[in-house]
Amino acid sequence: MEKKEGALNLFKLAAVISLTAVSFAFCACTKEQNAPVSNQQENPQILTSSYVPYTLVKNLVKDMADVSMLMPPGVEPHSFEPLPKDILKIQKAKTFFYIDKTLEPWASEINNNNSLALGKDLATQEDLHIWMDFDKATLMALLASKTIQREYPTLKQEVNKNFAKLAIDINNLKKSYSSKLANCKSRDIYHIGHLAFGAIAKNYNLNFKPLINSSEAQEPSPKDILEMIKQIKEKNIKYIFTEEALPPQMADLIASQTGTQILMLYTIEHITKEEFDKQISYQDFMYKNLENLTKGLECN
Ligand SMILES: [Zn+2]
Repeated sequence: MEKKEGALNLFKLAAVISLTAVSFAFCACTKEQNAPVSNQQENPQILTSSYVPYTLVKNLVKDMADVSMLMPPGVEPHSFEPLPKDILKIQKAKTFFYIDKTLEPWASEINNNNSLALGKDLATQEDLHIWMDFDKATLMALLASKTIQREYPTLKQEVNKNFAKLAIDINNLKKSYSSKLANCKSRDIYHIGHLAFGAIAKNYNLNFKPLINSSEAQEPSPKDILEMIKQIKEKNIKYIFTEEALPPQMADLIASQTGTQILMLYTIEHITKEEFDKQISYQDFMYKNLENLTKGLECN
């Protein structure tokens, strides 16, 4: 509760400072106008909310634009609340891409004409993790591609080419998921984490059983933990899954109680500093997920 009130207050504060922000931005412009003009043309600057839009946009622009991320690596995206400096950044950005208002309500509440929800209208009540559906991920990339081409006409040809390559990559992923997840000993994904992988389960006829049946970071109940342990034992499950954003103790406990091994599934909405430094792409993360699903569900 305390956190929610904090968020509301923050938004009130944001509304008050947004006017100030406009004048700050204006001051900055005036100063820049007086600064010596550089001969070197700057790359376009594109701001993204989190790693999902970041990696899709990086696929499109490569090094032709400077892409930055509002949420630093390691941040838990569902409970993210922007600081006044983040709101200023969005208001000053020429282009700001975020996922959508259901997953990132704070982004849609910030008044900025250059903000765009790449996953607009794609989320469902049951599942906010739209990029786990390959067709929806392609639509997100398509909207980013069209917008970048319109905003930065000099990049048009290259971005169009890169989008075509990305769409082929994603289509190949889709084919690999279909074929590799067709014949598996188990179809139950026992996941010590939250409901990020519902779309994969739905699209490939798997049963997704997350310990935390919510998008919010919350503690699982002892009853849910015991029920999961019981099912894993009854079904003679060999592998369970978890995600990086959670401390490993819960998965370790369930693994030790059930004699299972733990495999990682990558949400992509949460990334570590190391993964960011390596610039692991959407495609690479989704292939890692497929590899671990194939192993954990004993597919052939
Ligand atoms: Zn999530």
